[in-house]
Amino acid sequence: MALGQPECGRSDRELRNMLHDVVQANSVLHSRAPFRSERPFPTTLVVPTYLEGRFRECFSFIPWTSGCSWYHKSGCFFCGFCSAKKHRGGVSTAMLKEQVDAAFSGGQIGRYEVVAFYPCSLWDLAEVPREVRLYVYDRIRALDAAKYIILESRPEFITEEGLSELRACLPKQELVVFQGLETANDGVRGFCANKGYTFAEFSAKVQMLHDFRIMAGAQLMLKLPFLTEAEGVADAVNSIRTCSKLGIDAMVLQGTVVCEHTVTKLLHLKGRFRPPWLWSIVEVLKRVEEVHRNKVVVEGFTLDSLNIEYAHNCEKCSPRVMADLALFNRTRDLGLFDLTRCSCMDDWRRAIDGPSMPLMSRLRDDYASVVSMLAES
Ligand code: SF4
Ligand SMILES: [Zn+2]
Repeated sequence: MALGQPECGRSDRELRNMLHDVVQANSVLHSRAPFRSERPFPTTLVVPTYLEGRFRECFSFIPWTSGCSWYHKSGCFFCGFCSAKKHRGGVSTAMLKEQVDAAFSGGQIGRYEVVAFYPCSLWDLAEVPREVRLYVYDRIRALDAAKYIILESRPEFITEEGLSELRACLPKQELVVFQGLETANDGVRGFCANKGYTFAEFSAKVQMLHDFRIMAGAQLMLKLPFLTEAEGVADAVNSIRTCSKLGIDAMVLQGTVVCEHTVTKLLHLKGRFRPPWLWSIVEVLKRVEEVHRNKVVVEGFTLDSLNIEYAHNCEKCSPRVMADLALFNRTRDLGLFDLTRCSCMDDWRRAIDGPSMPLMSRLRDDYASVVSMLAES
């Protein structure tokens, strides 16, 4: 199966101008998202992690915040999280602390070896005031069972000062800080995700984390908007290998979901984007060498209230393959996937093998389509 690695030059001025229009469109979509009136509440869920060679369940706590600074500037093309949680007047320090208390109430969090606190950027003061950060550290420090603490930030907010404070506040626990890299390819990250930072910036913060004896994680996305199925698979394989070779300690590979108020949704409505097939997730796992694969868990194939559509196969085999993927996270057994067959594999093969225009040419059409759809709506 021939898969091309998408290449995006960074010097194409016309395309850059069109990208600028799509970024503007993204901001307009954000502004159209309605405000929600209920009191902000945290999302808590148990997610898989694979840390230091072993599967571990993680109690994950996602606060409802005012959104990250990047969202307010322009935001990523696939991100529905901040728009879905718009609260008139923002989310105050008191509301954030209330959510921390809610996540800790009931005692469930105290039973887990791994605990994750997942605002978008822990050190982004527009999203998490320092008072709240310290409050979270205090509550986490008191968790006896929690051996690993997972946190997340965009690279521009990771500083020596912030890491010193983190280390001082949580001296006994193993720490992991994830960055939402999405792809190791700067062109794809810039043109298809509008992520706003480079692989070099990410790498510098990986080094800084390691200097503080903190593990570095990467969130990766399978099939970012604008990519074909084949490009998405090739991009994810390359990203996993590149991150692993850089020394990344843990990776989460997530199928891109379609969320409200996003450029991705406009593409989806036009029939120009489908979230990845579950077979593509399997394909990525099969292609990546064991030494790299063993740092990866796969996610993003379960429906939550923010998602319109997520990674799937046909209705008949999706539940089975999702269960296989969840089991793979625990067992690392690729042989699982040889036991499930379905007639929709032929459709997937056509999607992954079919001809397509080069990404750069397609981007022009897709960008124009997004801008015209927004003007018509
Ligand atoms: S994906 Fe993360 S960095 Fe991008 S806009 Fe959403 S919350 Fe911010
Ligand atoms: Zn099927």
